[in-house]
Amino acid sequence: MIPRFPLCQLPTPCHRLERLSSDLGVELWIKRDDLTGFAAGGNKGRKLEYLLPEILASGCDTVVSSGANQSNFIRQLAAACRMVGLRFAAVTMPLPFEPPAPEMINGAVQGGNLILDDLFGAEITQLKNGTWDELEAASNQLADKLEKEGCMVKLIPLGGSSVQGAFAFSEACKELGESFDHIVVPTSSGSTHAGIAHFFSGTPTKVTGFCADPEPGMTDVVASLCGDLDHLLGTTKHLKPRDIELDTSFSGPGYGVASEVGDRATQLLAHREGIVLDPVYTAKAFAGLLDGIKNGRFKGRILFWHTGGLPSLFAYAAPTRGNSLEIE
Ligand SMILES: *Cc1c(COP(=O)(O)O)cnc(C)c1O
Repeated sequence: MIPRFPLCQLPTPCHRLERLSSDLGVELWIKRDDLTGFAAGGNKGRKLEYLLPEILASGCDTVVSSGANQSNFIRQLAAACRMVGLRFAAVTMPLPFEPPAPEMINGAVQGGNLILDDLFGAEITQLKNGTWDELEAASNQLADKLEKEGCMVKLIPLGGSSVQGAFAFSEACKELGESFDHIVVPTSSGSTHAGIAHFFSGTPTKVTGFCADPEPGMTDVVASLCGDLDHLLGTTKHLKPRDIELDTSFSGPGYGVASEVGDRATQLLAHREGIVLDPVYTAKAFAGLLDGIKNGRFKGRILFWHTGGLPSLFAYAAPTRGNSLEIE
């Protein structure tokens, strides 16, 4: 089996959202991976429990990665590296994008996760905005440079997306004591979604991902990670891209740019349940969930998988304030 380095407080809670359930006429539950506990919480802690042993086995003394300025993965990877005595360096961009270049909107260039990156001892090089490919190329260059200086470098891809990450989430599904008609999860690099979709394929539970960015071809990426999981676990689920339920229609203006419906969803969950979402991932997925409940796409027993991301909330402008909210 895959070696695990314990970092998180598991199992995370899973509970009913009493007020929203009765407001909306469904049975709505939430899986609290915002409360994984390690390095301010969120889904990346689970992935790192299986990535860290691989990093340690590589014999490296330095870890290099890349991501958005407000990357939750960089924050938690930094903490994990420092815990085991490794140097950690990363290149970041405010708002990396898919070409063609979108009309630029100011990114979250300071605060939030960057404060925690600093606290966890990360060496961050901030680049100007460019494409995801340029960001990855810059992290390769940084790795080369550090190697030339004599470091033993382990390069970790964007978001820590890997079969180990997907495995962490197929394991996490074993924590669910209840059964659900629908599970809704935010998706970006795809391994969270892949692990959950793989676990529930062949069961009545439908898994739907809401993309944080309108990246084309994500169903291929998620299906391919499910294939890697088949290989790792010796299962034969053979998920195809068409088996992956992925919705890009709530990604808003772009990756890392808050959306109005997302802000409204954040307000609703805060007001009704005292639970906080983040503007980059969970707000958009929760907005998609609310829309799906309204139009009958999601019914019965529904689970929202809260993947965390709280620190980035503090790097963005506050959602429009309003004291009254109505559920249309
Ligand atoms: C990274 C992240 C996601 C997306 O997870 P992936 O496994 O990359 O698809 C969702 N929510 C939060 C808060 C994240 O940090």
